[in-house]
Amino acid sequence: MKTNFTQDLLNSDPFDKSLEARELFLRSFKENALHHYQKHEFTRKLWNKLGFHPDQLLTEEDLSSVPGTMVHLFKEHELCSVPREDLVLTLTSSGTGGQKSRQFLDQKSLDNVKKLALAIHQSLGMASSKEYNYLCFTYDPAVANDLGTAFTDELLTNFTGKKEVYYAIQFDPKQNDFVLNEEGVVETLKRFAASGIPTRILGFPALLYEVIEKHQIELKLGDDSWLQTGGGWKGKADKEIPKKEFRKFIFKHLGIPEKNQRDLFGMVEHGIPYVDCEKGNLHIPNFARVYVRSPFDLSLKPKGERGLLHFLCSYNFSYPAPSLLTTDYGRVGECDCGLGTDILILEGRAGVSKHKGCALKALELLEKN
Ligand SMILES: [Zn+2]
Repeated sequence: MKTNFTQDLLNSDPFDKSLEARELFLRSFKENALHHYQKHEFTRKLWNKLGFHPDQLLTEEDLSSVPGTMVHLFKEHELCSVPREDLVLTLTSSGTGGQKSRQFLDQKSLDNVKKLALAIHQSLGMASSKEYNYLCFTYDPAVANDLGTAFTDELLTNFTGKKEVYYAIQFDPKQNDFVLNEEGVVETLKRFAASGIPTRILGFPALLYEVIEKHQIELKLGDDSWLQTGGGWKGKADKEIPKKEFRKFIFKHLGIPEKNQRDLFGMVEHGIPYVDCEKGNLHIPNFARVYVRSPFDLSLKPKGERGLLHFLCSYNFSYPAPSLLTTDYGRVGECDCGLGTDILILEGRAGVSKHKGCALKALELLEKN
């Protein structure tokens, strides 16, 4: 049996909707699921108990029958499908309270995630050989490489040529902690605006918004400048501005065209980047599947309806999360930008209970809503 469907998949067009492309995902997923079934005892026992075996995956429709492993399990236990000594990187979420998320990567899986992220950004017209100055609202990866956001930012800066990279979250010896260097951000933005080289800003929208408001920034960074946001409005949900309004605000204050403002949604446990097209919609690449499930009985919801998000992916052979059931709400929809694939519409988290108890507790609370 051929066993490198995953490499074939990651070498293919991320937004190809053809039957052939979709079958390639199916084969790749089956290859990955069989690996975890063989190498990860818990996954094997869980699937056995639920009457599922990867050999049952014969058609695209069968993919929706893969049981999802609850995201909490990955927060509470260190789950891994390869020997510890094979791991080259552990990613953790930045963690705004509650339990931290972790993901374990061996060399093959790390190469895979880098490859698929590049392919997605290239397909969306976001990769370039041109040089950019970067302002990153993260920690310097030299000091915090295991943080998911720092890892993502370092990865993203490699998708273009780069001149200067400024990391805005720095260690302050006086406070003995990492803090946002606001003055540094303002100075850097002004310097970049005057440099004649286009700018790319990477970071949390809330931090950027606060700095612009507080310092009344009005700059023209130019038509080829970009804003790539991620991480949502974590911890600042009360100040959250709808995406459309935020895009206008950024154009007004920084002169970055709206079509160059792209949000990215990712979960440390899942690793697939869902990235905005020009119209500001998060497209689902063929490297993943997104199902929406009823919080009551986990039954499949039809396209367009709201429910809990269930993600499938096939690139990671070291971390047994090919089928991840989350406590995030969302829907699957469509976009008319021409890319063709379905989009992911996020509708918030399932209440404050998310980080507090076991999976069942969260589901109980959901049922009360
Ligand atoms: Zn689109």
